[in-house]
Amino acid sequence: MKRVFLCLVMLALLLGAAAADERPPMIALTFDDGPSEYTQQMLDLLAENDCKATFFMIAQYVEMMPEMPQIVIDSGCEVGTHTLFHRPLNELSEGKIYTDLCKCIEQIEELTGEHIRWLRPPWGKVSMDTYAACRRLNLLIVKWSLDSSDWESRNTEKIVQQILDNVRDGDVILCHDTYPETLEAMRIVLPELKARGYELVTVSELFSYFPGELKSTTFYTRLN
Ligand SMILES: [Zn+2]
Repeated sequence: MKRVFLCLVMLALLLGAAAADERPPMIALTFDDGPSEYTQQMLDLLAENDCKATFFMIAQYVEMMPEMPQIVIDSGCEVGTHTLFHRPLNELSEGKIYTDLCKCIEQIEELTGEHIRWLRPPWGKVSMDTYAACRRLNLLIVKWSLDSSDWESRNTEKIVQQILDNVRDGDVILCHDTYPETLEAMRIVLPELKARGYELVTVSELFSYFPGELKSTTFYTRLN
């Protein structure tokens, strides 16, 4: 009986190892607060390094650069929403959150024909009302597991160090495509992550490896 149990444990371990082997080490880079004057250069840099990323756009800036969502999608990257005006969602009623996100989804759909799957809440702030609104809109919420702190340091060297010293398989990394320092940092970070064997993928691709069904009633930070 003991031997049977031992065999079953070994089989489970082997199957587990095989499942983990099914995907290469992966990271989802995310860029918030755009589109901006740096978004195109970021896309070019990603393409040069054979990397994908997700851009969480603020609708009021999309209005100023309405061509950008389609350009991002055409490059194989993903567009998510970062709300209309970057207001903290935990301070809004469910009705207001719903209206806000609805307009963002419609805007991207009209411009690209694509349906947005992911919300990056401004400052990562969510509430029960946020979950309720997202559920109605079939939106998933993703925060991050590694903050590049580019918004805080505004320093290329520190952004590079923060990412390369702390990155782990399955991370979702928070960056912004609104600072020249982040763009410069990515010139170093992208080739180095590739050299370490990571694939840089969209949020949707990373979470396609999530075990189980993704739900709007929670938020995701990384692929565990
Ligand atoms: Zn933001």
